[in-house]
Amino acid sequence: MTGGGAAPRSHGRLSISASRQPRSLMDEQPRLAGRWTARVITLLPEAFPGVLGLSLTGRALAEGLWALETINLRGFGKGRHRNVDDTPAGGGAGMVLRADVLSAALDEAAAGTPDDPALWPRLLLSPRGKPFTQARARALAAARGVTLVCGRFEGVDERVIAHCGLEEVSIGDFVLTGGEIAAQALLDASVRLLPGVLGNAASIEDESFSRGLLEHPHYTRPAEWEGMRIPDVLLSGNHAEIARWRREQAEALTRARRPDLRDAPGSKAVPR
Ligand code: SAM
Repeated sequence: MTGGGAAPRSHGRLSISASRQPRSLMDEQPRLAGRWTARVITLLPEAFPGVLGLSLTGRALAEGLWALETINLRGFGKGRHRNVDDTPAGGGAGMVLRADVLSAALDEAAAGTPDDPALWPRLLLSPRGKPFTQARARALAAARGVTLVCGRFEGVDERVIAHCGLEEVSIGDFVLTGGEIAAQALLDASVRLLPGVLGNAASIEDESFSRGLLEHPHYTRPAEWEGMRIPDVLLSGNHAEIARWRREQAEALTRARRPDLRDAPGSKAVPR
């Protein structure tokens, strides 16, 4: 691993592709070869690709359908111990990521990327952020790439958020220890929408959130299990009836569990 040496610049970045041997995952590669690229600023670069290196996202990574680069925040730390954090101004518990340290890492991450945040958003994973949604995953997949900042400790100096135009994004109303798991969730949701990553594109159309609805229930063999039968309509072979049943089930589930979804902006809700 690089990142802890004396060189002050370009020392914390690694490109990642999927491989059967985890230690050979980290190879220096040319940057931005026209592929959708995620740049992740983190204190734990070894957490990547993590689950993203497996299954569909891992295969897509190995095939070059997307690229993943980590930037080790530690490499921009100050002093002999490469400190990246300090005590909170005004007192209180925990530590705060320093603005100057994160800003230097963001400068490194910006190399060769478009300035337009629609083409290349710069996101800080944060429980204070705007909720991450399927619509946002679609927008990210339509961009050229994304820079993600994984927070740690109590928080991030507010000045670097404002100065570098970081947009805070949350993956849910709970508090994680750090942003790495959140970054992987966000990347998984976005990467699977890139062209060629999912084999059966039709499954995206029907799945939860795509039309402002939760998905209908699924069944498979055996036809009867623990006294419960697969609904007759699904075995009828009548495709119009099956589509109607699924639609009604999806609407009923959504009404019961997530009545907010159908009115959500960008939900693509079909007319009631
Ligand atoms: N003190 C912060 C607060 O109350 O909002 C929580 C900091 S948390 C312990 C450390 C880091 O984990 C955050 O900076 C963020 O990067 C990440 N994190 C925690 N929960 C998250 C969530 N729900 N969504 C996205 N990132 C999260």
